[in-house]
Order: sequence, then structure tokens, then C-alpha cells
Amino acid sequence: MSESQPLGMPARDFTSHQLREARAEAVSLSAKNERLVTALNAARERIAELGTQLDAVTRPPVTLGLLTGLPGPAEAEVSLGGRHLRLGLHPDLQAAELSVGQRVAVNDQMLVVDALPAPDTGEAVTLDEVLADAAADANAEATAAPAARALVTTGSGATRVVRLAGHLDAAALRPGDTLAADLRADLVTARIARTSVQQLVVAETPDVSWDDIGGLGPQIQQIRDSLELPFAHPDLYRSYGLQAPKGMLLYGPPGCGKTLIAKAVATSLARSTGAGARDAAFLNIKGPELLSKFVGETERQIRAIFDQARKVAAEDRPVVIFFDEMEALFRTRGSGVSSDVETMIVPQVLTEIDGVESLNNVVIIGASNREDMIDPAILRPGRFDVKIRIDRPDAEGAAEVLGKHLRSDLPLDPTELAAAGGDREAAATAMRRAAVADLYARTPDKAVLEVIYASGERETLHLADFVSGAMLAAIVARAKTAAIKDELAGGDGGLSTRRLLEAVAVEARQNEEITAAGPESVSRVVGHRGEPIRAVHRLQPTPTAPARAATAPAADKEQA
Ligand code: ADP
Repeated sequence: MSESQPLGMPARDFTSHQLREARAEAVSLSAKNERLVTALNAARERIAELGTQLDAVTRPPVTLGLLTGLPGPAEAEVSLGGRHLRLGLHPDLQAAELSVGQRVAVNDQMLVVDALPAPDTGEAVTLDEVLADAAADANAEATAAPAARALVTTGSGATRVVRLAGHLDAAALRPGDTLAADLRADLVTARIARTSVQQLVVAETPDVSWDDIGGLGPQIQQIRDSLELPFAHPDLYRSYGLQAPKGMLLYGPPGCGKTLIAKAVATSLARSTGAGARDAAFLNIKGPELLSKFVGETERQIRAIFDQARKVAAEDRPVVIFFDEMEALFRTRGSGVSSDVETMIVPQVLTEIDGVESLNNVVIIGASNREDMIDPAILRPGRFDVKIRIDRPDAEGAAEVLGKHLRSDLPLDPTELAAAGGDREAAATAMRRAAVADLYARTPDKAVLEVIYASGERETLHLADFVSGAMLAAIVARAKTAAIKDELAGGDGGLSTRRLLEAVAVEARQNEEITAAGPESVSRVVGHRGEPIRAVHRLQPTPTAPARAATAPAADKEQA
């Protein structure tokens, strides 16, 4: 140290100077050190990152299989593409930490290298029962608890014994639950929560009788003749060898009473067989709702529906199975719908229908707005034998339908009632008549659509062309709401001609069938012309101001 001392400097000063320098150097070195450590760490992280990227690029592909068993601490039973294999576990994996039903990754050395969550998709099956022997079914060498077994029904109707994935709580499962299964692995991997078939096929007690249906007299007569007589006198029919119709197809525009009729059939069969009306059962199946995303699910539901019907029928209660929007299920083959519908569903429903014995308390009623799209196979004798058109009401029919909704015992406008000399029936009849006259008027204020045919010819469609029972019911409901609001605001309330006509005007503007009409649906309204339609324009009904209505042509506004 002494060699480096500058000459002539007092020793103490020199030492303290040196100390200061050494300290400064130490500070700078430690700062440098810190920087180096930071740089080193950053480099290490980057290397790790690059390593991961490199791994990702060079990682050999793995095959995903399903873990079906754990026979030993380092072994796994795996279902791989339908094959059952017993494979070794990677040392990083502990059998005790795995559970049957998990997805596993298998590398090209056929070693299980990774475990993933159990799949929640697969074929939908229905749980019949969890087998009681589950707990006792201990496998001596098993490292994990043995998987419980269960009986399930598959989409094709077969009963299978399967294992339940380890993460499923067997005690929480109930018969009838929908489960997702890998049937090649004989394994159920998930419980599927959904609107259950039970909900879908709840048998309602219909509350509609023939008296609730307005118009449609001849159609109702035909239906009653063909159904009620054989139902009331089955033995007589049998002795004559006369087949009672098993099914009936009601077709025609929406909202004209098809569902009402089907419900009235159920009520009336209950009466004609001597059972009380409350014993009737009505299974309402909406075509589109039945089509489900699970393979096998639709088939299962169809079976459940017919099972339910047979159960009700066996209790000596007449049951109507009502297929609404039939065309969704029974589309004409080759119409380009999903092949599942064509190849699985139609034949299955036909089999079920064919399996229903006529006169055996079950009647199948189909309804459709698009009978042209229905598979003709469904219309053969022994299936939907009777085919009845339920059309839009004419003015007379409309008055009858209004009679069901605008009854004379409802609150009526005091002034109109007085004008009718206090005769409630007369006052109500006058209101209905006024509403019908207005609805069926072919005046510009009731023009709703303009149709342009391929030939260039034009035709104006009026509200009258779209009248349905549902529209009439909606008009009365709207007038009732207005009357209630008026009463709440301190007015006299009561149904009145004015309120009805206002409701008709609103219907002309807001009716869904009209506002959404395209060439295809309109062609069914004016189908009698048989001419192709080029375009349909929505007309804004002109306000009911008499001066304009008489002169101005309807403003035609093209729909986008
Ligand atoms: P769809 O033909 O589409 O099955 P619905 O029978 O469901 O039509 O009718 C819908 C509603 O319209 C009914 O609930 C009822 O209020 C009314 N309605 C339709 N047709 C009639 C009718 N003929 N008589 C009385 N109300 C009717």
C-alpha cells in the first residue's frame, strides 16, 4: 500500500483519501453488479422464453385420449380413437392425482404425458340408474377409487353399462338426467343441464272446448265425425273392421285455430269416452324445439314423448300428441335439411306413429303452415289419415271469432249500450259488425302490401287478406287494454266501437305477418293466382282521414 502513496502527503490524510476512493469504488462496483444481475436475469428470462417458443415449435404432437382406468401407480387405461390401451405414465404424473374421465395426452412413445380436464361434450344419453355395486366394485390394484357404473339409454334406444367419470358425484345424479358420454370408451364424462324432456312433454290439461272456437263449423264437424264416433264406440268400429283415424293433419295459415282445435279434440275425446274433461291430456311438441344439438337427443325426446303418451293412455285417459310446425321435423326428403333429420328422425317418428294402436286413446295431430314442405311419407293411411285445411276466416267467420273474444257480458261503453236500448247482446253485436266491416274494407286505408308479379302486373293486398283468429283476438285485447286505461284515468271505460276501430288501425300497421311478409309467404296468401311473385312492397296505410282515404293512392314504400 505504501508504494502508491503520493509523496509529501501526510499519512493520515492519505489514508482517509484512499478510504474515500475505495468507498466510491465500492459503490460504483455494487451498482455495476446490480446492473449485471439485472441483465443476467433478463437474459435468463429471454432464454427461457425462447426455450418455450422452441419447445412449442419442436414439440412432438400428442394424441388425446380418454382415461378409462388406473390399474396401477404408473399405469393408465386409455381409450384412444376407439382402442383400449394400457399405457405407462410419465414420471411427472401421479396416478393418485388423476381421475377416470379426464382427457389425457399420449406422446408418440405411447406414454401418458399430460392430463387435461374431462370433456363436457359427447353423445347424449339418459341415466337409467347408478348401479348399487359401485362402491363394492373395488379393484384390488386400483390406486384411485374405482369408477361407479351406471345403466344408460343411448340415442338409439340401447341400454348400456358405462362408467362414470371420477369427478361426477354419483349420488347427485338422478334417473332421467342427460349425460354426455363417450360410448366407445364406455364412459360418461359430464352431466348436461338442460330443459328436460319431462318439461318438454308435460301433458297439459287442455282448457279449450268446441264452444271456444269461432267459425270453422264444417271443419269441426268433419273432425268430430271422424274422431269422436270411433272413440265413443270402439267396439262397434272393431266389429265392423273399420279403422279409426290415428292422426290428423291440420294445415293453413298461422293463428287460425289449429292449436285450439287440437286442444278441443283432447277435451272432447275425454267427454266422448266417458272420462271427465279434466282427464284429457295434451302433449304439445314444437317441431323446431325438438331438434336439439346433441346427437341422439332428438330421437330420445321423440321416444320420451310417445312413452309419456302411452303411459297416459294406459291410465285410460285420452291423449293428443300435437306436433306444431310439423314441417320442421318432417321436411320433404332431399330438401337440403340436415341429414340427421332425414335419416334418423323421420323414420323414427314414423315407427313410433305406426306403433300407436288406433283407438288406443292416442290421437296424433300435426299442424303446419307449410304443408307443401311436409314429407309425404307422413301422410299415408294409418298415419295422418285425415287432412283438413284450416283457413282464414271470412267476414262471417270473423264475426263468430270476435264473438268468442268480445262477449256481451264484458264491460261495454255506456253510451253504445244506451243506444242499443240496454240490450247488451245487441250492443256487442253492433260493435263486432262495425269491426268486421272495417277489417274487410278494401279501401286505401286498409291497403297493406303491393304485390308485383313476374308479368309486371300489380295487386294490392288489404288487411282483409291477412285476417286470422289470432289477429281478431289481438284486436279485442288491444281494445280491452284501452278501455282499462281509460277507466284508470277516470273515464267510463268499456269496450266500444271506437276502441275496436282504433285497434284495427294499429293492427294494420303492426301486424307481424304483414310487416315481415316476403314473396314466399305472400304467394301462399294469393296462391290461387299461381303466378310467380317478383316483389312485395309494404304500403303504409294512410291515416283514416276520410278526405285522403277517398282520393290519394296508398303511399308505396319499398321494403329494403
Ligand atoms: P294456429 O293455427 O297457429 O295453431 P292458434 O290455434 O294457436 O293458431 O290460435 C292462436 C290464438 O288465436 C288462439 O289462442 C285464439 O285466441 C285465437 N284464435 C285463432 N283462431 C280462432 C278461432 N277460430 N276462434 C277463436 N279464437 C281463435
